[in-house]
Amino acid sequence: MWKTIGTDIIITILKNSIAAGNMAHAYLIAGPPHIGKATFALDIARYLNCTGSDPPCDTCQSCRRINNGKHVDINVLSLESPLALPESGKSRKEISIRDIEELQKRASLSAYEGKFRIFIIDGVEDLSEEAANRLLKTLEEPPSYVIFLMLTADEKRVLTTILSRCQKIEMKPVPADVLERYLIETHGAEAAKARLTARLARGCPGWAITLLDNARHMQQRTDILNKFQYLLSASYESRFAYIEHLGTDREKNTDMLDTWLIWWRDVLLTGCECSDAITNIDFFADIERAAGALQIGEIKQCIDRIQEAKLQIQQNANVRLVLEVLMLDIPRKTVQLEGVPATAG
Ligand SMILES: [Zn+2]
Repeated sequence: MWKTIGTDIIITILKNSIAAGNMAHAYLIAGPPHIGKATFALDIARYLNCTGSDPPCDTCQSCRRINNGKHVDINVLSLESPLALPESGKSRKEISIRDIEELQKRASLSAYEGKFRIFIIDGVEDLSEEAANRLLKTLEEPPSYVIFLMLTADEKRVLTTILSRCQKIEMKPVPADVLERYLIETHGAEAAKARLTARLARGCPGWAITLLDNARHMQQRTDILNKFQYLLSASYESRFAYIEHLGTDREKNTDMLDTWLIWWRDVLLTGCECSDAITNIDFFADIERAAGALQIGEIKQCIDRIQEAKLQIQQNANVRLVLEVLMLDIPRKTVQLEGVPATAG
């Protein structure tokens, strides 16, 4: 069975093209982080090399060896997983030409165990320019038994010469109800937790699974939202004191602003009577109260200001100054918001 979820249409198209003899030799699997690109690539690898009657069967030797990462014809290359022996003492920021030379060496040998020798390049945008140019040669005339599955979360960084030689498969976010059902049926999640997690993961199964087991992250999110809701009616003095305590870590503060943005988006959706689509369902009572107390224009303005602040922080502006100005811009409203209990999540 296919382990990827929410990709039924892509799978059907892919199976039909393979059955019709139109299989490409290089596929670009594009989509945001944690959407399931690596899982899908391994699904394709199992499908192509499966010896069972209903591929991918998961029980034949080939499927089992791929599941265990032991199949000699399946090669995974990424920043963390080099093909060539890594140069000692150097931290990798790029996939090097040495990896591509090793890849070419392996590609010149016919498949050993299965029907196809498959190269999964996880993060094709991480290839150095030299490595990417070297790879082009093999992409132009690959041996018939070689398949390239190139994964990217940032298609804009992939060389156009590589893109033009690949057939693109775009992975879209999985609908919340499909993801919710998957978390219950496959991961034994309790219904309410599955419902919230599926929404917080915003269509990315890998992220949903991580969240499910990460009570600390869930608690941090609850704390951020509880504090933020308190700040909405707090004095400027309290707001500035809070900013001071946050520190100046760019990534941490950007993540916090993302959490605020999703809350504001929920307020906007609720203000527009689309509350079925909100993410923070455990904060719905407060979101509804905030939506009732604020004008749509005010809500949109807050969203714009938080987005601007996020961009400024990413562009190296002074973190504390940006957050202080933001605190002046967010309207002070006397809304009675209660948050969720500290034990939630
Ligand atoms: Zn099989």
